[in-house]
Order: sequence, then C-alpha cells, then structure tokens
Amino acid sequence: MTFEYAPAPESRAIVSIKPKYGHFINGSFVSGKKHFPTINPATEEILSHIALGGTSDVDKAVAAAQKAYTKTWSKLSGKERGKYLYRIARILQERAREFAVLETLDNGKPIRETRDIDIPLVAAHFFYHAGWADKLDYAGLGHSPQAYGVAGQIIPWNFPLLMLAWKVAPALATGNTVVLKPAETTSLTALLFAEVCQQAELPDGVVNIVTGDGSTGAAIVNHPGIHKIAFTGSTDVGKKIARAIASTDKKATLELGGKGANIVFDDAPVDETVEGIVNGIFFNQGHVCCAGSRLILQESIAEEIIEKLKVRMSKIRVGDPLDKNTDLGAINSKEQLLKIKELSAVGDAEGADRWSPQCNLSDKGFWFAPTIFTGVTQAHRIAQEEIFGPVLSVLTFRTPQEGIDKANNTPFGLSAGIWSEKGSRIFWASQHLKAGVIWANTFNKFDPASPFGGYKESGWGREGGRHGLAAYLKNGKESGAK
Ligand code: NDP
Repeated sequence: MTFEYAPAPESRAIVSIKPKYGHFINGSFVSGKKHFPTINPATEEILSHIALGGTSDVDKAVAAAQKAYTKTWSKLSGKERGKYLYRIARILQERAREFAVLETLDNGKPIRETRDIDIPLVAAHFFYHAGWADKLDYAGLGHSPQAYGVAGQIIPWNFPLLMLAWKVAPALATGNTVVLKPAETTSLTALLFAEVCQQAELPDGVVNIVTGDGSTGAAIVNHPGIHKIAFTGSTDVGKKIARAIASTDKKATLELGGKGANIVFDDAPVDETVEGIVNGIFFNQGHVCCAGSRLILQESIAEEIIEKLKVRMSKIRVGDPLDKNTDLGAINSKEQLLKIKELSAVGDAEGADRWSPQCNLSDKGFWFAPTIFTGVTQAHRIAQEEIFGPVLSVLTFRTPQEGIDKANNTPFGLSAGIWSEKGSRIFWASQHLKAGVIWANTFNKFDPASPFGGYKESGWGREGGRHGLAAYLKNGKESGAK
C-alpha cells in the first residue's frame, strides 16, 4: 500500500515584496533608471522589477564604500565591527522564515532547503566571522593585518543569500567595505538583506548593493576604486575577470565551476552510499558548483548501486517549492533549463543511456526530472562539462587507481566524495584526488570554519575559515588567491 502525502504549503504571507526596487547605496534605497522583471521560476509569476545598474550607479556605490571605509569602518576596532556582525546574525535568525520563503519564491529551491540549510548557514557565517573580527592579530596572518579597502563582490543565483553571506561576512570582519551585485534572476534576498543592514544600524556605505546584469558586474570589476574582487559563478566569466584584472594590482578570489566525482569502492555501505549520491546531485536541483555530478562506481557493485539508486530516485518528490514535502524544486531560469536540456540531448546523441523516474511536471515554470545517464565514458561531454542541473553521469572503474585517474580527468578540481568502509583507503584516495574539498562517506556538508575552493578551472583562493580571512587582508597569502 502506498500513502500519498497531503499538501503542506508554507504560507507566503510573511513576505512583502515591493513592485519595484532600486539600489542600496550609502545606507538608503535609491531609484534605478531602467528595470527588469524577476520571476518565480516555479510559476513564471512576476514578483517584482529590479533596477538595472549602470556605471554611474557603480560609481556612486564605490564612492560611498570608499567614504565609509576611510571615515568610519577602518577607524572602528575589531571588537566594534564584530558587534555589528553579531547584530546582523541575530536579525537574520529572527527573520529566518521571511528570508526562507522569499528565497524559495525567487530561486525555486524547496522551502525545506532554504529553511533548514541556506538561512541557518547564512546566520552561521555572520556569527563565525563576528567572532574573528577582534582576533585577526591571532589568525596567523601577521601582526595587525590590514584590509584592502573596497571589495567588489559578484554572486550567482544558486545560493543567493548564502553566497552573499560567504562574501559580505569575511569582508566586514576584516575591515573592508563592500559593493555587491546579486545575480540577475535572484536579487530579492540581497535587497531584503539591505533592510537588515539598516535595522542593524550598520554605518552608511559599509554595504552597498547594486543590482543588474553582467555589464553591472563588469563595471564593478573594472572600477579603479575597487581593490579586491570576490566572484562566484561560471568558469567563462571567471576567466574574463582574470583577464580584466591581470595588469592591475587588484586581488581576487574566483569560485568557479566543478564536475565533482563521487567515487564508490566495492566495500562501501550500500544504502548510505545511495543516500549520499542522491544528496550529492539532487540537492538544490543540482545547481551546486561542488555537486557530485559524476558517479564513479567500482564495477563489481555498479549494478546493485544503480538498481537501488533508481528505486530511491522514484521517491524524490518534484513539485511546488513552497510545499514542505518537496525534495526537488524548479530550475532557476528558462536559460538554465535550456542548457540542461541541450547537454542531456548531447548525452543521448553520444550513446549514453538516460533514465528518469515518472514525474508529473507542471506546464508552468521550469522543471527537469531527476535523471541519470549510465554507460558514460570519459570522452562524453556529459562527463566533462558542468550541466548544473539534476543530471548524474555514471562511469565505472576496476582498480582503485583507475577510479582516481577517472575522477581527476576533468578541467575542474573543486570537490570529490569517497565511499568506503576502510579508513586507509579513504586517506589514500583523498591524497590522490585533485579537489579542493573532499568528503568521506558523506557529501555536500558545509561549515563556515572550513575553507572552500578549487584547483585548476575551479578557481583561485579559498572562502571560509582562516584561509578565507586571508583573502581579504594584505599579505594574507595563505588563501591561494591572486
Ligand atoms: P555567470 O558566471 O554568468 O554569473 C555569475 C555572476 O556574474 C552573476 O551575478 C552575473 O550577472 C555576473 N556576470 C556575468 N557576466 C559578467 C562579467 N562579464 N563580469 C562580471 N560579472 C558578470 O553564471 P550564470 O548565472 O550565467 O550561469 C551560467 C553557468 O555558470 C551555469 O550554467 C553554471 O554552469 C555556471 N554557474 C556556476 C556557479 C558556481 O557556483 N560555480 C554558479 C552559477 C552558475 P547576471 O546574473 O546578470 O548574468
């Protein structure tokens, strides 16, 4: 007998969305000139209109951030800066439900994830960095380490508020001021965060938010008043930024794409591994730079794992992101859905076998059923390129060394997972994997104290932990950033 879940929708009444937003500059909302709509990707309903920032808006934001740095923020002690960060963290906790609902509406990710993962981690990042603000002398980064001044920060749409927290919290803790641009499709929680800055009475100009598109991001990158760039997004845009700043003395951390390998050895605990594979690729609709998007199975257990994985995938509930039972929400945009469909079609054309469970997908909004491709080889594009959706490519190996070689055979080096009962095998594998983050018998676990970042085309530098602080401080070489 099968039990059906009754709908359990979260109310959206807690959220109040204005019909139109401007930029947040020097502590106030200022009107924009041109606007573009932002939609709910689950329904295509227009939620609001967002200002398209141009160079003059970026100029004003940088001027406000420079003034705030010189006149106020650089004059405060670490202890005083820390108080603001604690205050922001507490307000974020108090308004957690409002942020979770708004993020789900604007991004399409399930409320279960915004409520239980994104927003608690956002608050945790502010608490963690608040604790560092008055202890920078003891972080092993030299005596009295100095901030750069104004940091330009550009973030993507997959974890909108969380990526803001990853950027803003360390910048403020280390004494920098900020000009941040959220992604075009997901600006609403950043604008609500601007209200939190006002509520916390953060001095004017310490945080400035200019909304817009790629050209707004480029204006931030190229602005002479900005001394440090922190970017998360695609490898293509990361390369453009690297080229743009190559002949300047601007510092940068670039958090780019990935094609994470989840390697399963023949002694892995099967049921736990299947759960970890599902979490690795279907968490956040697979819109995760460190997603375990390549499953690399030891041949002797491949059949059993794939069989169990299909049974487990049939139980993934795809649908209304505001429903508390939903596991997999909407794809963030029409463009991203197109990209997922295109690359999946390439998988078909290259001869891999596609499988998805039966899903009733709505006609409105952007949806893609959880999908696996078996029979994938290393030469296939779906084994090499980031799909950034709920699509898993499955490869197999015979010897442990072959598994490692296959895992390392991509242009990326962001994340990997190892599944094995033997500690010695886990240590051996982790020593040979070229990935910045390696999980053992788990996947997609994040903590503000743990540095995050990649090798090769996955970017430069680390965010989080002591290494992440270094990236915002002069002589903070430990971060691996430019
Ligand atoms: P982008 O790299 O284009 O966007 C990331 C951010 O950079 C956005 O705020 C974007 O603005 C901005 N931006 C775009 N062009 C420039 C530029 N020339 N200079 C400065 N900033 C710029 O990623 P997309 O959102 O377009 O996604 C494309 C692909 O990137 C995805 O399919 C996925 O594969 C990958 N991706 C990877 C992420 C990761 O965490 N590694 C995160 C997001 C995407 P705007 O939103 O207006 O375009």
